[in-house]
Amino acid sequence: MMTAKLMQEIIEEKLDPKRCQHTVRVAETAVLLAERFGADIGKVKTAAYFHDIAKNMADRELEEMLTGTPDASYLKFSPKVWHAPAGAILAQGQYQITDPDILAAIKNHCTGRPNMGLTEEIVFLADYMEPGRTQPGVDEVRKLAETSLKGAIAKVLADTVAYLEKKAAGIHPDTLAAYRFYR
Ligand code: FE
Ligand code: FE
Repeated sequence: MMTAKLMQEIIEEKLDPKRCQHTVRVAETAVLLAERFGADIGKVKTAAYFHDIAKNMADRELEEMLTGTPDASYLKFSPKVWHAPAGAILAQGQYQITDPDILAAIKNHCTGRPNMGLTEEIVFLADYMEPGRTQPGVDEVRKLAETSLKGAIAKVLADTVAYLEKKAAGIHPDTLAAYRFYR
C-alpha cells in the first residue's frame, strides 16, 4: 500500500492546488465514512487520493486515452465524466494500482453504478459531500450519511438525476441504473 506522503506528492504533481485540496478533503471524508461503515481504510484512502488523478488532463488527451478501450462509451456523454474511467486507467498503468475495488471506485466516482462495492460507495459519497461542497441538498446528504450509507447515496443520485434533467444534459446509463437501484 502506498504511503499518504507519496500519494500527496503524486497529486501535487498532477493536479492544480484547488483540485489537490478537494482531493485531500475527499480522502479525509472517505476515511471518516470508512470508520463509520466498517470499510477497509487503506483501500478507501488510496481510491480517494487517486479519484481525480486525470481531472487536469485536456479533453482531447482523455478522449485519446479512452478511445479503443472498453470505456470508450463514456465519450458519448459529458466530457465532465471522462476523467473517471481515464483515472482508473492511469492508476493502473502509471501507478501500478491493481486492486479491483480501488480501480472501480476511481472509475465510477462520477456516474455511480448499481450495487457498488463498499469502497466505491464511500468514495462516490465522499466526493459529493466533502466539506468544500455547497450544492443544494448537500447538508441533507451529510445528515443521512451519519447513519445510512445507502440512504445518503440514494439522495445523491436523486438530486443528480433531477439536476441533469433540469439542465437537459445527457445522463449516463450507469447513473440512471444506480438511481433505480438505490432508490
Ligand atoms: Fe471527479
Ligand atoms: Fe472529485
